[in-house]
Amino acid sequence: SVKHGGKNNFMFFNAGMLDELKHRTDIEYILREAIKYNGFTLAYQPQINVQTGKIIGFEALLRLKDYKISPNKFINIAEETGLIKEIGRWVTKQAVRQIALWQEKGYEPKPIAINFSSKQIKDYGYIAFLQDTLNKYQVAPDYLEIEITESILMEQNANTIDFLNQLKKIGVRIALDDFGTGYSSLNYLTFIPVDKIKLDKTLCEKFLGLKNLRVMNSLIALVHSLDLVIIAEGIEEPEQFKRLKDGGCDYIQGYLFSKPLFEEEIEEIYNYNFLERIVL
Ligand code: C2E
Ligand code: MG
Ligand code: MG
Ligand code: MG
Repeated sequence: SVKHGGKNNFMFFNAGMLDELKHRTDIEYILREAIKYNGFTLAYQPQINVQTGKIIGFEALLRLKDYKISPNKFINIAEETGLIKEIGRWVTKQAVRQIALWQEKGYEPKPIAINFSSKQIKDYGYIAFLQDTLNKYQVAPDYLEIEITESILMEQNANTIDFLNQLKKIGVRIALDDFGTGYSSLNYLTFIPVDKIKLDKTLCEKFLGLKNLRVMNSLIALVHSLDLVIIAEGIEEPEQFKRLKDGGCDYIQGYLFSKPLFEEEIEEIYNYNFLERIVL
């Protein structure tokens, strides 16, 4: 369904996510080395406005430069070993640096979302670090979005809401990731300070059924009634796109439009109209 135009093929290149068979201890070692020797990189997946086809922002997704190990796997090990705190700070700094770089190059600045593990709540200096980083690179806080998942709320840590409020006070945006996979209680949406809901891929797949379509439409309406915006994740099929658009979904992120891209691949697509590039 995607128009591959000769030289544009690169945009669908993805550092293969085939898992190299490695033991946990090997991966822990690889992570420690990557922290020391600059072994990480970020890929950026465009988020597309359903109405205009323009990029409204990017999600930063962590990659190991030299290994094809899936993030789900190595992030898990980073969480268990506590390395996630240091890695999370690296991701934060790298994303803020990237926003500053695009500004310097004269591109219309677009927000970058970073993923934030519930384990990072225990990185007690993080709020100060975040503020310092934004100051250092002179990036306005609303260009950074922090993706949390429901697990952050399930930890039942009294400090969680306080932590999120501190983030809001800095002025960064907060998105609720993987919505619809966990213990989704709509109740959360009324008391956690979020700006954006990310509908999970698995949920979006279910919406292809007619009955579920009504559920999807109600969910979108509900999110809007709370003055939040909604983005659907993992969209691969034109049919999914059509239905989400009809249902009033604001944004879409998925292979239908683009895989995560590396820094040097972004500039060419920065101002694309993605609606002109898919066959519906
Ligand atoms: P996530 O935050 O829900 O990110 C979305 C995942 O879906 C990404 O996988 C992305 O590449 C993939 N994706 C996007 N569109 C499509 C699509 O159309 N089809 C399919 N099949 N997949 C799609 P990825 O990059 O492998 O990351 C997996 C998870 O690892 C992320 O899920 C996130 O939970 C975690 N992760 C990645 N980077 C970071 C990071 O810097 N910090 C933390 N804490 N977690 C991260
Ligand atoms: Mg995410
Ligand atoms: Mg997600
Ligand atoms: Mg996920």
